[in-house]
Amino acid sequence: MTHFIFVTGGVVSSLGKGISAASVAALLEARGLKVTMVKMDPYINVDPGTMSPFQHGEVFVTEDGAETDLDLGYYERFLKRSKMSKLNNFTSGRVYQDVLDKERRGDYLGKTVQVIPHITDNIKERVRKAGEGFDVAIVEIGGTVGDIESLPFMESVRQLMVELGHKHSMLMHLTLLPYIASASELKTKPTQHSVKELLSIGMQPDILICRTEHDVDEETRRKIALFTNVQARAVVVCKDARSIYEIPRTFYEQDVDDFICERFGFDLPEANLSDWDAVCEGLFNPEFTVRVAMVGKYVELPDAYKSVNEALLHAGIKNRVKVQIDYVDAESLESQDVASVLKTADAILVPGGFGERGTEGKMQAIKYARENNVPYLGICLGMQLAVIEFARHQAGLTEATSTEFNKKTKQPLIGLITEWLDERGELQQRTDSSNLGGTMRLGAQSSELLEGTKIREIYGHSQIIERHRHRYEMNNHFIADIEKAGMKVSGYSPQGLVETVEIPTHPWFVAVQFHPEFTSSPRGGHPLFASFIDAAKKYHQAS
Ligand code: GLN
Repeated sequence: MTHFIFVTGGVVSSLGKGISAASVAALLEARGLKVTMVKMDPYINVDPGTMSPFQHGEVFVTEDGAETDLDLGYYERFLKRSKMSKLNNFTSGRVYQDVLDKERRGDYLGKTVQVIPHITDNIKERVRKAGEGFDVAIVEIGGTVGDIESLPFMESVRQLMVELGHKHSMLMHLTLLPYIASASELKTKPTQHSVKELLSIGMQPDILICRTEHDVDEETRRKIALFTNVQARAVVVCKDARSIYEIPRTFYEQDVDDFICERFGFDLPEANLSDWDAVCEGLFNPEFTVRVAMVGKYVELPDAYKSVNEALLHAGIKNRVKVQIDYVDAESLESQDVASVLKTADAILVPGGFGERGTEGKMQAIKYARENNVPYLGICLGMQLAVIEFARHQAGLTEATSTEFNKKTKQPLIGLITEWLDERGELQQRTDSSNLGGTMRLGAQSSELLEGTKIREIYGHSQIIERHRHRYEMNNHFIADIEKAGMKVSGYSPQGLVETVEIPTHPWFVAVQFHPEFTSSPRGGHPLFASFIDAAKKYHQAS
């Protein structure tokens, strides 16, 4: 039977609930348990797929093609043995949609449809299903205790905890201990209040994770325990860390795993944290710093590129360098001297994106990288723009663009596949047309890498699987033009769609239609990012 740990947050948002939950998961995995994680989001959007990265940060894509909350990225980076899927993230909107569909179908046989039990039953069913087959499922409730929006989730968790019983469920609550400088004191009152708020809806936390910028003395810890009805050993201090990857060890040192194992009756060997220690050792002992210019549209909010940032960090660990990311706003680059903005960059990266705004600036950065032998990695839109830039300036296709920006162009280098099918419709016969022509290509798909190419050498094998999230594709009618001019298509999907391109005469110019960042792990890194940072390191040393 699966054991559930529910995770709530109090006092303020952005305390790092997802990271704390994932760190507990990593620690339990290090004890040998099979662990999964779930995120329940209280907003009404059916999924985060259409939400602006400015508001919500990155959309994380799972192997099975679900567009999810960025916390799922943390979950996958912290968990070694389980992958997330569409079962692991759902919103209020999804739950209501389900219940309303059933109501329209008449499944409720004329009964009054209500939050309790219909909405709560749907939530409980989803949670149980996501936990099936695992020793432990850690279930995070988005938002902060007291929010109107999260009440149905809280109520479902309350019910579930009664159904599962003490031996199979527990509640972990995350709070903040603010420091009042004038009194030189850490304040516990907000924590007491947020636990009261939980108690008023029938929920007693078993573990408290207290976020703080300062050390917490024994007396304060005991005071928190006393006022919140939590055992003193389960009041866990989580002081601001140098890196999120230190937190599994922080929790281990306070015996969080022992407390959980005792409660659930697990008799297991000590946690083995050697790989987490190795991650931190690499992270804190870089030989020098390399600078990557990341040219994008959402640069004011680095969370919009969370997985790319993390993948670069992991590649730094692998190469024993610190990777400093310099965010460059693509749109303002258009009116600046590109060379002076980018001259400090040891490498340039253009990540994924949607819409035309900023694309000319991104192409100026790509042109600079191409002409000055600066390592370049293009991801998704960053590949499409690399192809367009090359076509315009090297292949004489001066009007080249994507139909995403100009529907009427005569040189649609990039377009929806239905827009550039040849008259025989050859490609359409070879592809699942329901998945094309305007709908997003989502989730893990395979690519075939050609012998003798850089990308083939980087991955070390010809068949790779990476995650996708895009509508537009390189137009196969222009492959011959760009190849003649010196850009090589180095990887294809099984249907013959372009997956990767490179410039063989450039020291490191690789661009890919998929999103390698979603599969990078702090422990192993990702071969493409590792090779990119290795090239940045060499560029840095040579300049
Ligand atoms: N806008 C482009 C497309 O839909 C690229 C998407 C992306 O970069 N994720 O194909």
